[in-house]
Amino acid sequence: MYDPYVDSQLNSNQADVASYWQAETPEQVNYPAIVQDISCDTVVVGAGYTGLNCGYELAANHQRDVVVIEALQPGWGCSGRNGGFVLRGTGRLGLAQLADKFGLDTARLFHQEYGEAIARVNQLIEVGNINCQPQPVGYYKLAHKPGIAKDLARQAEFLQQHFAYPVRYLDKSELQQTVVNHQQAYAALSFPDCYGLNPLALAQGYSRMAVEAGAKLYGRSPVLSFKRCQTGFEVVTPQAVIRSSNLVLATNAYTARGLYPALNNSCLPVLSSIIVTEPLNSQQLQQVNWQQHSIMMDTRTLKYYYRLLPDNRILFGGRGAITGKAAADPLYARRLLAALKLSFAGLEQLNYQYQWSGWVGVSFDDLPRIYSPEPNLFYAAGYCGSGLSFSAHAGKRLAQLVTGKVLPALPIYQSGLKEFPMTAFRRQGQQLYYQWGRFKDHFL
Ligand SMILES: Cc1cc2nc3c(=O)[nH]c(=O)nc-3n(C[C@H](O)[C@H](O)[C@H](O)COP(=O)(O)OP(=O)(O)OC[C@H]3O[C@@H](n4cnc5c(N)ncnc54)[C@H](O)[C@@H]3O)c2cc1C
Repeated sequence: MYDPYVDSQLNSNQADVASYWQAETPEQVNYPAIVQDISCDTVVVGAGYTGLNCGYELAANHQRDVVVIEALQPGWGCSGRNGGFVLRGTGRLGLAQLADKFGLDTARLFHQEYGEAIARVNQLIEVGNINCQPQPVGYYKLAHKPGIAKDLARQAEFLQQHFAYPVRYLDKSELQQTVVNHQQAYAALSFPDCYGLNPLALAQGYSRMAVEAGAKLYGRSPVLSFKRCQTGFEVVTPQAVIRSSNLVLATNAYTARGLYPALNNSCLPVLSSIIVTEPLNSQQLQQVNWQQHSIMMDTRTLKYYYRLLPDNRILFGGRGAITGKAAADPLYARRLLAALKLSFAGLEQLNYQYQWSGWVGVSFDDLPRIYSPEPNLFYAAGYCGSGLSFSAHAGKRLAQLVTGKVLPALPIYQSGLKEFPMTAFRRQGQQLYYQWGRFKDHFL
């Protein structure tokens, strides 16, 4: 599997993603490669949610001549293969941690920005008539140990009091009776504005909207390199060169080592893995008693996230391998299946039918950045595995940056991603973090 940590280029000969979403999403459009040199105002590299939203905004609301260029097909990166959790937030810092770090007023601004991100996704789905099977509203954060139940109760109070966020605390018995029969959940916090959807269908919908707004979208056209020239940039693909005044890198965790080393060194590609089971039969469904197809994630350091899909399969995700070479090792899927069976009784016979993984971009300080590190060059990256809703908003913010608008006074818009110390040893650090996480999740 392509590994941005070691590969100097992303080429277009990558295997298709054998995901449930690939199998279940009808009418996937293939966009042709660019074969003729062209000039434009802005080139956006990468057609995930970030790049597609940036392209859409530049064309629809800023009347810019924009080209979006993708190495494979739109959504081939994280955006077409994620869990489909529409969450309010990004990065790995919750509102209490943001308040500690930046003060309560700034944390409130973050909360507002995150709310706008969800509202934007909802609006685009409606305006673009995107058929991405949104499932009923509701996300549950599950305490994986009895001692954490108290923390969740405190969090509920904090969020209600300081953010007027109508989250709700559920104790174990309410959780078991009204949400899901879970063997390892001891309390929950419910978030009313989050929900699940089909992420690949969303990427397809964004692509269509970008093109209808006037953006030119090309697939199978990896950017091999770019350089500055008198008029801006020369962006080189296998069959054509694009000249542009502005360059947006929306390549996030999939940024190859050789494309823009400063971004690669400050955004660690980390594998997240997913399995999707066969559909549960009526007896299994009764045992699990999963109401309303809500989405869930636990409080572990090495988190598991899961949802019941519209056709009653369970999607179960978590940490994957460390290297691209090891990504397809069935060991990781078996681990996820074992964790699933520890969570839900009565599923001993259940097997998985799909297994895949993808690279999430982890930043050094657990927050993403939307920034211009040098004149006319822009990027958005580092959502730390929580970017479905926020990337849509980041795309809009990128477009505003390109057109010279001033962004809200949030730290994520005021500096670039920080380079990891000892960048050559990031994977050793990741290995140690996983060992620490396993220890903490079991014993502390
Ligand atoms: C398994 C998994 C589960 C996840 N689950 C969730 C979830 O449930 N909820 C959530 O909020 N977040 C989730 N995430 C994270 C979320 O998917 C991402 O944050 C989001 O999709 C990032 O979008 P993006 O457009 O920035 O990046 P991507 O979607 O990764 O897009 C980058 C694109 O750039 C292209 N590219 C790279 N280099 C080049 C080049 N040289 N030339 C041309 N194109 C190039 C790539 O092919 C890719 O398509 C998950 C991620 C994974 C991997």
